[in-house]
Amino acid sequence: MRCPFCSADDDRVVDSRLAEDGVAIRRRRECSNCNQRYTTFERIEEIGLYVIKRSGEREPFDRAKILAGVRAAAKKDGRGACLVAHLRGCGDVAMSTDAIMALTRDRRDDGGFG
Ligand SMILES: [Zn+2]
Repeated sequence: MRCPFCSADDDRVVDSRLAEDGVAIRRRRECSNCNQRYTTFERIEEIGLYVIKRSGEREPFDRAKILAGVRAAAKKDGRGACLVAHLRGCGDVAMSTDAIMALTRDRRDDGGFG
């Protein structure tokens, strides 16, 4: 990580802790060159599912992709299991009520996930 103060790319982590309800890790870093401190956040890369930001802001998502993912998961464990839990397991991802409603509707339409 390049230092925002002097642009050196040599730093050490002086503190790590969970942030944002455990979906991110906040690292306090100290530049080995200028000794300034700054903070970075590490999180799992988003994988194209429905994303609800903490601000409540929603990012575009690919509904077909969600359905495919849920179907694959349902096939794997034999039943729908907990969709939200599964999606959370994929990263910083949550489903909107609408998306869950849509899934439930599709489930009725095409014979279900199992
Ligand atoms: Zn620096």
